[in-house]
Amino acid sequence: MGRFKDIFNGWQSMAQPALNSEHLPLEQQRLHDLTARIRSGVLFYPAVWAFIGVSMLVKHATLTKFVLVLLVFMVETGVTLLRFRMLDKSVGYSEFRQIRQFLYVDAGVALSALTWSSVLLSSLLNTPFQEHYSLIITATLALSSGALINLSIRKETVGLFLVALYGPSILTLLLGLSDQPNGLGLVLLIYCIAMYHLTRLPRREYERAALSNLKLQDQARQLTELSNNDALTGLRNRRYFETTLKQECSRASRLEYPISLLIIDVDHFKSINDEFGHMVGDRCLKHIANLIQNSLLRSQDTVARIGGEEFAAILPGMDGSAACNMAENLRQAVYGAPFVYQDISKTMSVSIGCHTAVWPNDHTAESLMKHADAALYDSKGQGRNCVTCSSD
Ligand code: GH3
Ligand code: MG
Ligand code: MG
Repeated sequence: MGRFKDIFNGWQSMAQPALNSEHLPLEQQRLHDLTARIRSGVLFYPAVWAFIGVSMLVKHATLTKFVLVLLVFMVETGVTLLRFRMLDKSVGYSEFRQIRQFLYVDAGVALSALTWSSVLLSSLLNTPFQEHYSLIITATLALSSGALINLSIRKETVGLFLVALYGPSILTLLLGLSDQPNGLGLVLLIYCIAMYHLTRLPRREYERAALSNLKLQDQARQLTELSNNDALTGLRNRRYFETTLKQECSRASRLEYPISLLIIDVDHFKSINDEFGHMVGDRCLKHIANLIQNSLLRSQDTVARIGGEEFAAILPGMDGSAACNMAENLRQAVYGAPFVYQDISKTMSVSIGCHTAVWPNDHTAESLMKHADAALYDSKGQGRNCVTCSSD
């Protein structure tokens, strides 16, 4: 009895994985996996029917039976082709389209199940298939057991499949509308209930595996973000900046377009720390980082914090005059938006060095940095709060 309780408790805990914030990605994953699983199974319907049809005709062939077998085969093949089209429509991940995508999957499953259901039903009624009802029922059970392994990851699809496939036949048998014994209806009903419950375990196992997979992916993504971003300002960090600058330089040389680099240094920043403390200094850095980020709106630009109060912007494809204008706008933006915190209001300024490497000069990350740094040094030498531009 204790052992039974253990098993039951184990079953219960398997039945309730945590489905909270990960629910949406899990459903997307489920849709993706269900579509992939179904794709391989769709071909089985016409294939199994071809096998059954030939077996029936070999045993006892009549013209009517031949025509019916051919007709069913054509319908099964048509449904299979239609389902391939429907599966293509169900591919995609947006939250908005998700319900519709599941509808496509379910409609396809119901269509195949209903088509086969009519074959099963016809073997229970007075039709040319009646004499082969045991063959058809056996094949149906085998086919549905295989299909349920694939569909098991979604309970609604399992239920729909069983109802569409066996519902009409079970009703017909239980109502005594068939020559076959009523008990067969009960057997099929028990089979459906048992199969529905049997799919619970693989479904829970699937959900657990999918959830932990999604969690791992998410953690990997967060780690990548952490290793590329600066914790204080949220901008890219020096490591990311250096890698990106190298990549952008070689891409600019290869594709023959200019590349500009801005190095931005906050003027007299030490005095903020000295006057108001390090914490206020940090807030001031965030304020300036936001202004820099907002001044550079192109998605291909990279903005990074490359030192204590030093920032950089990589501007691929931007020529000298555009980069110089951008640097000047940025300088004005910082000068025009004082840093305000509690009762402190402080006008800040930045000095900017801008260098543009114009193709066909061979520009490396090192030379770009060296020239932009030299331009920044000139800006500082000219009294700060100014922009110096150079190009080669
Ligand atoms: P200059 O106009 O010549 O650039 O003068 P500066 O004071 O800005 O330059 P300096 O290099 O003398 O000082 C930079 C200061 O930036 C010193 C350091 O304490 C401060 N600093 C560097 N990193 C951080 C940080 O993460 N937070 C804070 N609050 N201060 C920082
Ligand atoms: Mg400084
Ligand atoms: Mg500095």
